[in-house]
Amino acid sequence: MTPNSLEKDLVALTSELIRFKSTKANPAELKRVIDYIERFFDGMDVTIKRYERKGKHAIVILPRGVRKPKLLLCSHADVVEAEEKQFVPFRKGDRLYGRGAVDMKAGLAISLLLFKAHYRTKKLGLMITTDEEIGGFDGVAKLVGKFPAEFVVASEPTQDALIVKEKGVVWLKLRAKGKACHGSRPWLGENAIDNLLAAYARLRRAFPHVTKDSWKTTMNLGSIRGGDAPNRVPDAAELTVDIRYTEKTTAEKVIATAQRAVGTTIGIEVLERCPLMITAPHQEQVKRMAACSEEIVGTRPRITAEHGASDLRFFSEAGIPALVYGPKGANYHGKDEYVEIRSAAEIYRVLEHYLKKA
Ligand SMILES: [Zn+2]
Repeated sequence: MTPNSLEKDLVALTSELIRFKSTKANPAELKRVIDYIERFFDGMDVTIKRYERKGKHAIVILPRGVRKPKLLLCSHADVVEAEEKQFVPFRKGDRLYGRGAVDMKAGLAISLLLFKAHYRTKKLGLMITTDEEIGGFDGVAKLVGKFPAEFVVASEPTQDALIVKEKGVVWLKLRAKGKACHGSRPWLGENAIDNLLAAYARLRRAFPHVTKDSWKTTMNLGSIRGGDAPNRVPDAAELTVDIRYTEKTTAEKVIATAQRAVGTTIGIEVLERCPLMITAPHQEQVKRMAACSEEIVGTRPRITAEHGASDLRFFSEAGIPALVYGPKGANYHGKDEYVEIRSAAEIYRVLEHYLKKA
């Protein structure tokens, strides 16, 4: 494929995919986009498996007879909410604008075109889900055990870097109780908000503020609720925190530390817990991908870590090496999201090069 026709195909297919309003509120569109992807491979000698769980649709496509591809491209077809006009893609110079342009309908388009061109090599597989933006628990989490792979790549936006580490996640809710009474005689009651704030101060000491970009465990106080009037002593209060941890600890240890810090009088509930995504930078496939990237792009890619989480953590948990490597772009989850077209074509050519060497 010439560079120009590759860019043209990528723009056309990404634009087509952006038109699907595939948000969590829109299960019919989640199905429609997966239907579209299934039809994309009509008449090809491939195995297609469809899944549906709680209205979240997924599809796995493998060359016939292949069980464990050398490379599995894992993509999500869902996007976060956007204004109506963001679902109408448009091009301006090297940028293609639209919801999901870079997160990650360009990455999805790369994987579909690459598979169509190279499925006969029997090296490549595709896994596409529609619940990444809400945690992936009905998508990749459920499919990971069914589909082994030698190596997994997700073309989420990475500005051309290879992301081999993403932090783990623990969300906690703290509940404090007290005894209600009139605010003029506080000694007759027990203030739940006071109890909660004291517990939170202890929790903060266990997970101190991180004030600059560094690879450390962090905690954010995300919400706090309690009380309804100045003159009433509240009998209940609660807050939620989002803890992002590194490989120096585990979800279990984070939860145990939090429990010790807040003490026994405060209720603690684990709202969510996700493992880390972690692949050794010297892993054979990572080194090969870096070499391919250098050959195609001309500069050595950064091999680095990311604070946010993605579906790849489920592969890490299953012991399958994985990395995130995708096109340049900006404003994902925001207004004016765009992908850089030349960068998307570059990612395609790097992955193609990798396949040749795999
Ligand atoms: Zn994404």
